[in-house]
Amino acid sequence: MPAARKLRGRFAPSPSGRMHLGNLWSCLLAWLAARSVGGEIALRMEDLDPDRCRASYCDQIMRDLEWFGLDWDGAPVYQSRRSELYAAAFRELEKQGLLYPCFCTRAERLAASAPHRSDGVAVYDGHCRDLSQAERDELAQTRRPAWRVRVPARRFGFSDLLQGDFSQQLDRDCGDFILRRSDGVYAYQLAVVVDDAAMGVSQVVRGSDLLDSTPRQLWLQDVLGLPHPEYGHVPLLLAPDGRRLAKRDRDQELGALQTRFSASELVGVLAYHAGLLPEPEPITPAELLPRFNWSRLPKEMGLALDD
Ligand code: GLU
Ligand code: ZN
Repeated sequence: MPAARKLRGRFAPSPSGRMHLGNLWSCLLAWLAARSVGGEIALRMEDLDPDRCRASYCDQIMRDLEWFGLDWDGAPVYQSRRSELYAAAFRELEKQGLLYPCFCTRAERLAASAPHRSDGVAVYDGHCRDLSQAERDELAQTRRPAWRVRVPARRFGFSDLLQGDFSQQLDRDCGDFILRRSDGVYAYQLAVVVDDAAMGVSQVVRGSDLLDSTPRQLWLQDVLGLPHPEYGHVPLLLAPDGRRLAKRDRDQELGALQTRFSASELVGVLAYHAGLLPEPEPITPAELLPRFNWSRLPKEMGLALDD
């Protein structure tokens, strides 16, 4: 009998700043979900955006993960070095007739009165979908286009490890989305699908802010002939005042937290919020392994994180 394939999870931080507690929360849960069943976990730096990402942040993230007691398997993967892979997938979609250039400016896209997705982004109104070649040539004289993918009028759904069934009607809830920006940078949606498959990722644990990216990623996996990983979307940690944690919350940044707490104290607080400890008390990620259980995790974060 062939050996059962090992579960393979991943960390996929965006190195656009120092990690904050919210990033560590999703990393800790991804690590526990993989390691608690003897699985592997890969590390991928989502550093596609040259304006926002720095190599020094990548190094810092690795030091922070290690400080926290989270390890990974194999060499870290840098998306900024993998454009060839994304270009190949892009060409494949182009061959299937699914891509078209979009010349709309940001202002024009915002002005189009379309319904809004749950992430607050307007659903693209399809303005450039059916431009003639002559119109495209004309527009290309003065503007560099972004490239969008034509989504089908179909519903894509899946069963989330934590959130249960979730689906979207792609044309209505998502709309044609950008796969390559006008500056040539490949979009997250394309890179994530290519990389999860290329890296053999079978389980994706990430923040619930990405729940509504998942149906379009499942569809892209289908059109590119790639397997579907399983998904678990964990609730976002909130700042003490109930807002989403952001890079500007300096007091929740690891640099500031490290001056006040030990790694095991922070793990203990997170584990308590994850329902894995009755009280916040110092503990290491490794000590949490036998306690990890999807059914204990909260689907939503009612509690704000206050040190
Ligand atoms: N890089 C993304 C983030 O840090 C995560 C993307 C993903 O997990 O698919 O929010
Ligand atoms: Zn357009």
